[in-house]
Amino acid sequence: MPESRVPAAKVGEELSRFERAVAAARRQIQKLKSRASGLPPAAKEEIGYLLDAYLQMLSDSRLVRGVLSRIETDRVNAESAVQAEISEIAKSFEAMDDAYLAARVQDIREVGNRLVRHLTKAPLQGFALLPEGTVIVAEDLSPADTALMDPHQIAGFTTLLGGAESHTAIMARSLGLPAVVGVSQLFGEVRSGKMIILDGSAGQVIVDPTPETLSDYRRRKRALDKERQNLARLRRLPAVTKDGVEIDLQANLELPRELENALSVGAGGIGLLRSEFLYMNRDDLPGEAEQYEALRELVEGMAGRPVTVRTLDVGGDKLAYNLAGHIEESVNPALGLRAIRLSLKERALLETQLAAMLRAGAHGPIRILLPMIATAGEVRQVREILKKVATRLRRRRVPIPDPLPPLGVMIEVPGAALSADALARASDFFSIGTNDLTMYTLAIDRSDDQVAHLYNPLHPAVLRLIQFTTEAAFRGRIPVCLCGEMAGDPRYTPLLLGLGIRDLSMAAVSLPRVKQRIRSIDLIAATRRANLIMDQADAGRIAALLDDFNGLA
Ligand code: PEP
Ligand code: MG
Repeated sequence: MPESRVPAAKVGEELSRFERAVAAARRQIQKLKSRASGLPPAAKEEIGYLLDAYLQMLSDSRLVRGVLSRIETDRVNAESAVQAEISEIAKSFEAMDDAYLAARVQDIREVGNRLVRHLTKAPLQGFALLPEGTVIVAEDLSPADTALMDPHQIAGFTTLLGGAESHTAIMARSLGLPAVVGVSQLFGEVRSGKMIILDGSAGQVIVDPTPETLSDYRRRKRALDKERQNLARLRRLPAVTKDGVEIDLQANLELPRELENALSVGAGGIGLLRSEFLYMNRDDLPGEAEQYEALRELVEGMAGRPVTVRTLDVGGDKLAYNLAGHIEESVNPALGLRAIRLSLKERALLETQLAAMLRAGAHGPIRILLPMIATAGEVRQVREILKKVATRLRRRRVPIPDPLPPLGVMIEVPGAALSADALARASDFFSIGTNDLTMYTLAIDRSDDQVAHLYNPLHPAVLRLIQFTTEAAFRGRIPVCLCGEMAGDPRYTPLLLGLGIRDLSMAAVSLPRVKQRIRSIDLIAATRRANLIMDQADAGRIAALLDDFNGLA
């Protein structure tokens, strides 16, 4: 980590940055401690002891005091102060020639690495060096970490923390990487070199399987591969219900390299391009030209099919470390300065993105999508900025589309869903983000494994918001798409169609199965079942009615 000098006026800021990193590291270790409580007594004791030692090193310890004093007196950045302090402590422990203390050096380094990771928010490196077929077992992984994994080399991953609708899980799904997140029994169970089975569909991790289990899973994998081959035959067939209603199926894209997958499953467009990929795993911010090039390639690749590009949606579990200078740590990141709120505060970021989108729009149809909208005023502000950016580009004689691309909003905040009529007047299309809509409606963090079992998009409140939004879009005569993870699960397909949704966007891997389900649905029957479901007050009863319709009951 390069050392840099901190000007006298900024020392206070640097000290608080370090204190925030210490607090974040402590929170993380407390979380790990609470997960360890379910372990067998011997493991619990051993891990508890180690985590307590870490916590001590993060309280008023020699390490913390030493770093604070280095920042203050040497005026160096926090990262290099941590490293200098760790080296000095390590040297003095090693000099004492005591086996116990020598072993503690390892722990101090571990704590130091954690601190540096919290300071830089840097992703894990080094996946490229792992042998083919490796399964990664980690405490936690960020979406940016996951983006660095090559599915040809990494067989999958499992983590102690996290939820199935977190962005890390979504990233894994779109890369086709098997993953099981939020497995608290992982502690102490797994050692390098062990055989491990990841069952992403059942959310199960099996360490050291018996020969029978192993051959059973090999058989299941072959069956899955076969099913995938069969589904590939659907590519050219339309997504049309038995009674002849055509449904638009589009792909969600996390990374440009997934374009191939979207094309290979015959997606009708990109329904959601999460532009965060442009900001991940780098120290600087992407400029207009670079963003334009990346978008142009995607637009040209889709050859006339629409590409819906979402403006930056960072914050919550998606903080890009190169934006750290623009985002203060929030007391509650899910409710803080994120997504459109950040874009409207940091105008330059937004203007750069809009300019790149407008320029890419000269090569094919683009739609601009705004995340986390809560009020029509926010949409109007962006429209004004979009017009200004367009005028500036026209003045420079840069080709852009005329009329300007449609400007749509994500409906993912309950307040936005409830004021969908006003938003329909201010915007050109809706995209319902059920991942966040479920999270905010039920007050359940989508990336927290402790409450993951309570996360349920079939809660009547969530369904009513989806229904109300869809109807408001009809009333306002604007298109509405649904692009949350619900869209990719064939179990929900009849319900969503029954509620009036005709446009679904999902991970490319999910598209063939959903298409297959659509082709077996009678829309009149699905609508009737959706009406019956909307009369229910209980999510369990709703699930039963849906399973019954799907022939799963
Ligand atoms: C959503 O919230 O449903 C959504 C599609 O956006 P993201 O998952 O990127 O938050
Ligand atoms: Mg969202």
